[in-house]
Amino acid sequence: MNFDIFSLHPAVLKGAQSAGYIVPTPIQEKAIPHVMKGSDVMGLAQTGTGKTAAFILPILHGLINAPRDGIGALIIAPTRELVDQIHQDIKMLGGKTSLRSTVVYGGVGINPQIQALKHTDILVACPGRLLDHINRQTVDLSKVKTLVLDEADQMFDMGFLPDIRRILTRMPQKNRQTLLFSATMPKEIRRLANDVLQNPVTLEIGAGGPAKTVSHAWFPVASHLKTALLIKIIGHSCKGSVLVFTRTKFRAKSLGDKLAKAGYPSTSLQGNLSQARRQAALNGFRSGEYQILVATDIAARGIDVSKVSHVINYDIPSTPEAYIHRIGRTGRAECTGEAFTLITQEDALMAKAIRGIIGSSVEQRRLTGFNYDAPMASSTGEKIHSQQRRARY
Ligand code: AMP
Repeated sequence: MNFDIFSLHPAVLKGAQSAGYIVPTPIQEKAIPHVMKGSDVMGLAQTGTGKTAAFILPILHGLINAPRDGIGALIIAPTRELVDQIHQDIKMLGGKTSLRSTVVYGGVGINPQIQALKHTDILVACPGRLLDHINRQTVDLSKVKTLVLDEADQMFDMGFLPDIRRILTRMPQKNRQTLLFSATMPKEIRRLANDVLQNPVTLEIGAGGPAKTVSHAWFPVASHLKTALLIKIIGHSCKGSVLVFTRTKFRAKSLGDKLAKAGYPSTSLQGNLSQARRQAALNGFRSGEYQILVATDIAARGIDVSKVSHVINYDIPSTPEAYIHRIGRTGRAECTGEAFTLITQEDALMAKAIRGIIGSSVEQRRLTGFNYDAPMASSTGEKIHSQQRRARY
């Protein structure tokens, strides 16, 4: 099966071809015909399944011959990085059309956005800044024919649901097509879906489980040895790009610095950075300038960096769903990947919950040659610290 089967407009088909897409992924195969027909869709899809193109291609197809009288499609996504990425995908897939796309999110000046909003066919936005534009009356959503709520569960986690409901009141209620994508279906998202979707087609891809292309391993370790073990694991097992997750912004920054000092090209991505620095970190990781990106969960969703060979949970995620999202950053588009998790005694309960969702036993690994019994004061982390001190003087 190839993309011809959908009878997409030739310019849109060319976009898919120039992106190198030959065979549609399962979510594309299932969703594209329904979206082209104008049905509402609820897509329960894992990350990395190709769901972005599953909505972008039919949206481009629908808009290409429609009157250009304002914003015809609105895509709402939780993070700036994801919004940028969707926008890049639209530019790539819509490169052979004359349709225009623009982005709206916080952390950058509002005036250029106000100008760009006057001349766009597709808007990709984060909820907070979009609401800001609505309140300033600098955006007109009255012509939106298709609304996409992407990564809806993360928008809920981030507290965006009230904003989304407010945005919805400013949009056409009739004759609007709504597509809602979520990797998991907490009850609040089901309720939102019931409220906003009309006779939706429900599509489940992977049923919310982890990608099959990812293998999992756990590394039990004492808390004070985590950094030392991580450095060993990276040296021992990781030749490609590595995404490391921490629980807090502070830990992301400090671990990124430690890895850099240990000699690895590393950077960190967390919410305290300016938009420009977030983008620079992500671009550097994408280009291979940095082998390692240490991130908080802000980077866990949707971010598409091809060829991430390893995701390492330095800190165990706070929910099993967050585990799925984090590890969804590797094993993308049918490539294989490995997900490592450092497990301390305090993590036992969460580890059990995650094992439940993975649905199989997880290999427990011990690294030979690593001193698991090193006392706190003489841990490798401390040694690194004293080496740094020596280097300074
Ligand atoms: P997504 O789940 O939308 O973030 O997509 C994951 C990755 O798969 C991205 O790198 C896409 O460019 C890629 N992709 C999407 N659809 C296809 C396809 N039909 N063939 C090959 N790669 C694809």
